[in-house]
Order: sequence, then structure tokens, then C-alpha cells
Amino acid sequence: MLNSAPAWMNAGHPHIWLPYVQMKTADDPLPVVATEGCRLHLADGRVLIDGIASWWTACHGYRHPHIVQAIHEQLDRLPHVMFGGLVHEPALALASRLCALLGPGFERVFLTESGSVSVEVAMKMARQYWFNQGQPRRRRILSFAGGYHGDTFGTMAVCDPAIGMHAAFASMLPAQDVMPLPVDAASEACLDAVLQQEAGHIAALLVEPLVQGAAGMRMHAPQVLQRLRALADRHGVLLIFDEIFTGFGRTGSLFAFEQAGVQPDILTLSKALTGGTLPLAATVANARVCAAFWSDDPGHALMHGPTYMGNPLACAAAMASLDLFATEPRLPQVHRIEATLREQLAVCQTLPGVREIRVKGAIAAVELHAVPDRAALCRAFVRAGVWVRPLGRVVYLTPSFVISHDELTALTQAIHEVLRVLPGPSIRGAEREA
Ligand SMILES: *Cc1c(COP(=O)(O)O)cnc(C)c1O
Repeated sequence: MLNSAPAWMNAGHPHIWLPYVQMKTADDPLPVVATEGCRLHLADGRVLIDGIASWWTACHGYRHPHIVQAIHEQLDRLPHVMFGGLVHEPALALASRLCALLGPGFERVFLTESGSVSVEVAMKMARQYWFNQGQPRRRRILSFAGGYHGDTFGTMAVCDPAIGMHAAFASMLPAQDVMPLPVDAASEACLDAVLQQEAGHIAALLVEPLVQGAAGMRMHAPQVLQRLRALADRHGVLLIFDEIFTGFGRTGSLFAFEQAGVQPDILTLSKALTGGTLPLAATVANARVCAAFWSDDPGHALMHGPTYMGNPLACAAAMASLDLFATEPRLPQVHRIEATLREQLAVCQTLPGVREIRVKGAIAAVELHAVPDRAALCRAFVRAGVWVRPLGRVVYLTPSFVISHDELTALTQAIHEVLRVLPGPSIRGAEREA
């Protein structure tokens, strides 16, 4: 590996801080020199078919010419300008377009540079919504088991602690209200009872709608979102949908909430917002939320404003990405991917190491009985010519929507090949599940 690694890899690798890994023991990351369509080109000439679309962002494939051109044109005119006291067309055009796409009721968009920050902004909006109305005690955000909302301090506090990525910081976080999702009558009654008792202290409910991504592609029925809307209304709390992963077609509709027929009060978007090209996130508030900030009192303004907020390059990329949802058959592509994933992954169901297979839109999860040796699995996938990385005991695919049938088949075959040799559940594991 080191022999074939480029000079920049050998010189820079000891100095870069990598995310989420023990750098002493982890395999070296693979040097990528180019991306194209659904493929990653490595420095040593190997080409991998990408099953992840760069953390779920590259929904149109890499380097779609329409987005590339839009970024080039914006770069020549106005790459960036501060957003305090100044505005520009890309941000305002994007804000009105997002509100129109989301549907009536959505009113204003706050543009930031990362998903975590957009959730922070949503939480600040929810809390200040009550503060501005003279109810400062309504400040807690109630979130759900299996949820992931980011890595900043505010968002760590609303992640499911069992996902376990933030253990070192647990004592620094505000008290957490993480409840089971209301997937049945019992869990609904439980949530109702907590809200009944605590509503005077709760600003909002926060949930990843339909699919909880980082927890391992856990899926729930649209009825769960209907129950959450009803409970939020009954107890007068706000409802926040974190659509950072599910937004822009991933679950089969442009936004996941459409499948439930209910709207949140605040919605967060990021990941596929720019089609995987530039960092950008959006927090969208409905008329009810906006009304609480519309005031003659300067103290009622939202005190937030990242330096690079509303970056024109990123907004131009997002506009171009939205063009592609209008001009290319993205949702039909997602539906075809869903059918192919169901059909082709079914053979994995009989493998001894496989516990369950879940498919929704362009998302497939193959849940194993045990947490595998992730590094060994990743190496096996790379040998098979694909880029697939498990989340805990879940091997998943979230391909680009433009992936060809042959490329998708290569991904599902590689999963079958690699998982075929895994052992079945241990007796203890099986007992625990029984
Ligand atoms: C990725 C993700 C985030 C965090 O976004 P970053 O851009 O990584 O900060 C928050 N919520 C959900 C649902 C996500 O998938």
C-alpha cells in the first residue's frame, strides 16, 4: 500500500486528523484521485463502484455536468459575500424554491453549512419560539431512540446515547429526553403520558422521519409520524423533522414527510441538498414559528449567523441539484432501485449471519446477527470492487439515484459474496434474541 501510495499521501497522512477512527490501528484510508458517475478512482488505478454516495449526498452521481457548470458560473461572478446586511440571488432564489417545494405553510429558510448546525438552529428556534411568547420554561427537546442529529454539543444531547459515538462527552450534555418512538399503542400511550406531565417544559419533539440513518437504517411506518403530529398538537409542542438524510428522494418521495401526509413546524435539510458537491444545510420554519419572531422587540430576533452562511457557490449548486429533480427522472429511478434492491438482496436472507433485510426507497440495510470485523469486511468489499462500509452490524447501500442496473447488481452481488462466509448467530446471541 505504502509503495503505491502517492507522495501527498505519505507526507500528509501523519498530519491529518481522521473522523470516527482510532488512527493508530485503523486501516489506512484509500487515496481517491477522481470521482465520476457512481465510481471512485483510487490513486493506484483501481476503480470502486460506490454503494454509499459519499455519506448519502451524491444523489445525481459525481460531477453531474449541470451542477459543475452552475458552480463554475457562480465562481466567476460571486463566490462568497457575508450575509449580514447583504443578500444575493442564489440564497434568496433557493429559499423561495425550497418553500415552494415543501408546500404551503413553510415560510422562511435559514441557511448554514452543516447538518449539525441546521439542527442546532432548529433547536434554538424551537426554544426561542416559546421564550418570545413568555414561556421560557418550555426549553427541552424530546427526541427518540435510534435518532442521530449531529456531532455538536447541542445535537449530541438529542442523539440516542446507545448509538455510542459520544460517550466521552455524556457528562457535559444537558439532561436527555430520549423516548421510544410511538410505533404501537403502548409506546404512544407512554409518550402521551410524558407529554401530559412535562409539556410545560418541552419546546419540541425532534425525529428523523421514516428512516433513522446513522443508527443503522432503522425504518418506521408513516403512521408513527401521524401519531407524533397528533401528540404535538394535543400538547401544544412544536414538531421538528430532521430530513437531513431522508430529504431529496432517498425514501421514495421528495421528502419523507409527504408519505405520512403531515407537516412538521421546523424541518432540517442538508446531505443531498447540493447533490454532494458543497457543504450547505437549511432549517425551514413554518408560518406559526416565524410569527413568534416577527416583532418590534430586537430581543425576539434569532441570534445565530455562521460566517459562511448562505454561501453563493453552495446555493448555486443546490439550485442546480433541484433543477435535476425537475428535469431528470429521479423519483422513478429511486423506485426502480427499490425494486432491484428487494429482488437482488432477497438471497441474503438465507445466509446464516443475516438477521433481517430492510429496503425503503434507495436504501437497503442487511442487518447481521453480530457486529462484524468492520475493517475485514471493508477490505473484502474493496477486493470485490465496491465501496461499502457497515454501520455497526448493518451493511447498507445508499447508492446514487443514477446508478446503472449493472452497477447496482455488482453492489448486491458483492454483499452476497462477502456475507456468505460470515458465521451464523452464536447460541447465546440466538437466546438473547428469542
Ligand atoms: C448527517 C446527519 C446529521 C449531521 O449532519 P452533518 O452535516 O454531518 O453535521 C444530522 N441529522 C441527520 C439525520 C443526519 O443524517
